[in-house]
Amino acid sequence: MIHYDLRCGAGHDFDSWFKDSEAFAAQSKAGFVECPVCGSKDVSKRLMAPAIPKKGRTRAKEAPAQPPAPVAAAPAAPPPPPIPAQMVAFLQRIRAEVEKSADYVGRDFAEEARKIHRGESERTAIYGEASDADAEALRDEGIEVARIPWVPLAD
Ligand SMILES: [Zn+2]
Repeated sequence: MIHYDLRCGAGHDFDSWFKDSEAFAAQSKAGFVECPVCGSKDVSKRLMAPAIPKKGRTRAKEAPAQPPAPVAAAPAAPPPPPIPAQMVAFLQRIRAEVEKSADYVGRDFAEEARKIHRGESERTAIYGEASDADAEALRDEGIEVARIPWVPLAD
């Protein structure tokens, strides 16, 4: 399985899992990869910027705030495509495995991940919630994190 950060032609960011890069290419070409915000099929992999040391550099990253889109002109956003049953089962297995072997740290995730990275925590595996900005910051610091779609477990 491979995780891709994606962006549609209108600039909406989202992410999805694919069996491999060929699967993404094939599904994207066939129009099966759709923006969950606007339904656009013009979807491409988001370019990952190389990590840039933060010290002594101005942050050019922050784009000016976008004016809110006029509501009346915006088409109703379609619901996100359903996750195939096979994928749900796969994600349920991942979730069960994570819950079994890792400590839940909730919103302290980024902080705990740094402690582990610095050898200040005895934990080895954690899971919790982190914002995209947190996850990106951790990656910039060389700490590997994975975002897992958290599916409800089967009864
Ligand atoms: Zn979109």
